[in-house]
Amino acid sequence: MTKRVSILNYLIQKKNLPISKLFTNFDTSLIKLSANTLEDIQNLKEKIISIQVKYNLDEKEALKTGLKIKIKHSGLFQCTSCKKNIKKLFEGFCFPCFKKKASADRCIMSPNLCHYNLGTCREPLWGEEYCYQPHYVYLSYTDKFKVGITRQTQIPTRWIDQGASSAALLAKVTSRHQAGIIEHNLKEILHDKSHWLNMLKNGNKRPSLEEFQDKISFIFNWIKQNEIFQNKEIIVDTPAHLKLSDQIEYFHSPVIVNLNYDIPSEVLKFKSINLDKSSEIEGIITGIKGQYIFLGENVFNMRRHEGYIVDLDLEEI
Ligand SMILES: [Zn+2]
Repeated sequence: MTKRVSILNYLIQKKNLPISKLFTNFDTSLIKLSANTLEDIQNLKEKIISIQVKYNLDEKEALKTGLKIKIKHSGLFQCTSCKKNIKKLFEGFCFPCFKKKASADRCIMSPNLCHYNLGTCREPLWGEEYCYQPHYVYLSYTDKFKVGITRQTQIPTRWIDQGASSAALLAKVTSRHQAGIIEHNLKEILHDKSHWLNMLKNGNKRPSLEEFQDKISFIFNWIKQNEIFQNKEIIVDTPAHLKLSDQIEYFHSPVIVNLNYDIPSEVLKFKSINLDKSSEIEGIITGIKGQYIFLGENVFNMRRHEGYIVDLDLEEI
């Protein structure tokens, strides 16, 4: 038990808290940033929108540089699906959920492998709601240019979660499967993964507007010459009763969103720490990028610990 002498300094003292990924919010003097505003703004003059990324531990408590954080793992975990307390996690799930939940299926990680149309979706009703909704294919810059997909509601959160310093929409479609197929084909010319250490080292560095626009032109030129994109091969089927369009809407000159993180300017080496090696971590927050909290040279990935049940203290010093 922490000594209560300085209790007034505690912002949060939580027992048995299942770790969730960090909440994010973002400041831009221009607009409330969302997928819709990014689409609208295509017609405006702005070519770049810059936002300052901020983080929250929960709905109200800000997580920021200078606070002291202490996280102690209880040894237990909570399934991210059924919320049962368990002794071992399987990619965030208890074993039964890992085996039967659609959200634990491999098509979640590889959406091009969506098998709803074959009638084998683990939970078809869930799939209709989660996967058959507007999705975007985007280009982001983390430690390099990469392609990714996300649901409409996750913009710009998805970009912040992966620690992108710039991002832009490439295409809008009506299903996760369709987005996954486009992403899968674009892998021929683009990476689809970042390296976490290089992403952290990259800090707030980003390509210039011209470099970003050149990359987008390159992608669309490639699409124009690619047979798979130019004939109907790229189009996936959607369930007839959902009456979805099979149109792919491309954004040839999208607005570029620059994301700025509060991070130390010159840290050259990082050491990843986790609760499996040491059940307790403690330090002063020196920055946050993506889902990584910097504690000096140590970095702690919140998302990797989703479902770990911990005692958490956050203290103003
Ligand atoms: Zn479960």
